[in-house]
Amino acid sequence: MEGRCPARLARPRDVSLEKKSIALARADRQEGRKETEPMLSYQHAYHAGNLADVHKHALLASALDYLTRKDKPLSYLETHAGRGLYALDGAEAAKTGEAAAGIARVEGLGWFAADHPYMRALAAVRAQHGAQAYPGSPLVAQALLRPMDTIQLCELHPQEFSALRSATRRSGAVLHKADGREMALALTPPTPRRGMMLIDPSFEEKADYTAMPKLIGHIAKKWNVGIIALWYPMLASGAQEAMVRTLRRHFPEALSHEVRFPPAREGHGMIGSGMFIVNPPWGLAGETERLSELFASL
Ligand code: SAM
Repeated sequence: MEGRCPARLARPRDVSLEKKSIALARADRQEGRKETEPMLSYQHAYHAGNLADVHKHALLASALDYLTRKDKPLSYLETHAGRGLYALDGAEAAKTGEAAAGIARVEGLGWFAADHPYMRALAAVRAQHGAQAYPGSPLVAQALLRPMDTIQLCELHPQEFSALRSATRRSGAVLHKADGREMALALTPPTPRRGMMLIDPSFEEKADYTAMPKLIGHIAKKWNVGIIALWYPMLASGAQEAMVRTLRRHFPEALSHEVRFPPAREGHGMIGSGMFIVNPPWGLAGETERLSELFASL
């Protein structure tokens, strides 16, 4: 467990999972593979604040805003947290230009009012870390959740995990350096039961697309009141389509929202962003309609 967590909010760590992760890492080392290879090459710093993040973070912030209107504690969980805090004037953002074409552009266009929950999260992070800081999903959540809520974050990449630990220091968030899918199953149903899980894999492996419907099916069975939100890329190759069809078949009541945008640069395969939300909070559909219009205007 990392950070400072009020004792009544802390859940015991799943030691069997921890042992399993350690054993897997040891097996990797024995085979001569680096712990961070091959599936952990993705670094969100190159993409933070891009149009996909705008879509995902605006919906996440809106969902948490609806959830926190009720004076009851909630659980927030993330399977693939990333580093939590990004620098839009950093070398990575400059290299891709994705944040310039993303959050910088849409803020200039006035997409979000100052009191929109996404803007409130941005303002809180900028006030603390400077004008060029950008919150990853953990810090969007941290900015909007209340002391009575619990946050559990999972990140497997050693450097990203260590940056996440710094970014969430003194927040009360519980961190897990472990596989997000395994943790999702180990931590559900959470206490309190009311709450939300964000699943935001990097989809570096094709197997992620087939794994997601099964994972969400298992989680929903264990945690039938949980709001489960999956982000996925819309790719020119259509690699996500079968997964989305399966999800829609299994969860016909879920909120399925996709927006399209021009590729960030020539040859870039991502042409849009999707969010699939099981048990969406009441009112969120209105925000998806607004976002559809905004993205269509790009
Ligand atoms: N949710 C973040 C946000 O919106 O700010 C971005 C997360 S990024 C798309 C995906 C993250 O998942 C990366 O930081 C990567 O290191 C991490 N990751 C990859 N495989 C993982 C696994 N099996 N378990 C946990 N984290 C993993």
